[in-house]
Amino acid sequence: METPKNPLSIDVRIREGFSRIATAMRIEEWKKAKEVGLNPTQLAVLALLEGRKDGLNVKEIAAHLGVSQPSATDSIAALEKKEHLEKRAEQGDRRAVRVHLTSTGLAAVQRDAGGDLAEQAVGSLEEREQEHLLLSLIKMIRHLQESGAIPLQRMCVTCRYFAPFAHPDGERPHHCHFVDAAFGQRELRVDCRDHDETDPPSRAATWEAFQAGQPNLQAP
Ligand code: SF4
Repeated sequence: METPKNPLSIDVRIREGFSRIATAMRIEEWKKAKEVGLNPTQLAVLALLEGRKDGLNVKEIAAHLGVSQPSATDSIAALEKKEHLEKRAEQGDRRAVRVHLTSTGLAAVQRDAGGDLAEQAVGSLEEREQEHLLLSLIKMIRHLQESGAIPLQRMCVTCRYFAPFAHPDGERPHHCHFVDAAFGQRELRVDCRDHDETDPPSRAATWEAFQAGQPNLQAP
């Protein structure tokens, strides 16, 4: 049996913690999906496509959801039957298709089931703790995407519009060139609809500047 004298490593215990949070999120996902007559994978497909004006192909959908292509294909077919999705030929290649959200699909994904457990848990943290957590998550997600474990996410740190620590203002040090406005650490995006992917060398330079500018965050 594990005891404080003989604990598992901290990375194992953090993973156990993530697993508990994931359980709460799964409960919510089942509840929300059931309310709109879908299963959680189908709802996740709709959520993934929300705000993607160019849609995604099946391979991309499977990679983002971490499921096999046949499984993604089944979910897409079921959603197409419900008129939540439609397939359109890719520009310049009529044989290739991209999957797009319909207005019915958008209504389903935007329906608020209320009482998000994960958001309530985040709300129990102090503001400083929330900021620490957001920065840690961004760093971990970036690690996963740079190692090829997950596809590139629509985060500020991988966006060509992002200028980290462009302003001396400690409250709003970053700049978004898409909206031409300064913003703070708490507004850093993990999944931004206006994201435009930058090339790997620029991405590395942006990350370096982002890391170099980080204030030494003290524990709250
Ligand atoms: S467009 Fe979105 S992802 Fe890009 S810098 Fe602005 S807020 Fe961040």
